[in-house]
Amino acid sequence: MEYVTAAGVDVPALGFGTWPMTGTTCRSAVQHALQTGYRHVDTAQMYDNEAAVGAAIADSEVPRADVFLVTKVRRQNLARDDVLRSVEESARELGTGIDLLLIHAPSRSVPIEESVGAMNELQERGVVEHIGVSNFSVDQLRRAIAASETPVLTNQVEYHPFESRPDLLECCIENGVVLTAYSPLAQGKVVGNEVLAEIGATYGKTAAQVALRWLIQQELVAAIPKASSRSHIEENVDVFDFELDDEEMERVFEMGGGLRSRLRSLLGL
Ligand code: NAP
Repeated sequence: MEYVTAAGVDVPALGFGTWPMTGTTCRSAVQHALQTGYRHVDTAQMYDNEAAVGAAIADSEVPRADVFLVTKVRRQNLARDDVLRSVEESARELGTGIDLLLIHAPSRSVPIEESVGAMNELQERGVVEHIGVSNFSVDQLRRAIAASETPVLTNQVEYHPFESRPDLLECCIENGVVLTAYSPLAQGKVVGNEVLAEIGATYGKTAAQVALRWLIQQELVAAIPKASSRSHIEENVDVFDFELDDEEMERVFEMGGGLRSRLRSLLGL
């Protein structure tokens, strides 16, 4: 496993996405993921699978301290009292501590400052270790950073070879925030891509593996692919024995519209 370090915290660069799996499907997929080397698991109140994820972690032979567990507060629960109540409930469902708590998506009615304040309270109480956000724009991310007494560890957003995020990535790098890429395989659509397949052929890797490698090779980027099939779970974690060169990185960036010079220099390309 490789790690992305932000605010002194080592976040496993490859995580396991669990939506839309529930029940025994989710539990056995997370168990298999932990067995095959994943050390970062992504769930949410909205996914209705926190109990299954917690059970898989409890069953696993991997020490709890080695697993980075992320959950998210549902958008409807972002008022202070709802954050406190619902996250206590998440912790009960998970049956273990929460390493990283995210706002799932910005509320249309509750100010970011109120939700972030409640998350800081949960940190003080020891219910959650770190906090972050998801689906935040650059302006919303800056507001969350300014409001929080503790570092905002990540902004989890959709990011893959067909979805360019230059402004967000620049903002994350400048503020030392991890950009966690959800739907990193474009929900499976990367699979038939000829450029990714051609690059992968050089290394004996698939298009999906190249997409994941391209993400985690970027400064402060982590990726959380979801897979229910055992072969996909195994394939997606097998991305630590090859490296894309600068030209290959640029070819994949071209698919999302290319790189602006500022981001190119931040990424060292
Ligand atoms: P994804 O990970 O890009 O794609 C998942 C799809 O790709 C599944 O259909 C899976 O099939 C298939 N797949 C996985 N590995 C493959 C491989 N090696 N070859 C071919 N196909 C493969 O999309 P996602 O599920 O939308 O995103 C991942 C995770 O991000 C979610 O599970 C969730 O935890 C998180 N997420 C967060 C938000 C948010 O708002 N914060 C939004 C969306 C997602 P099988 O299942 O059949 O193996």
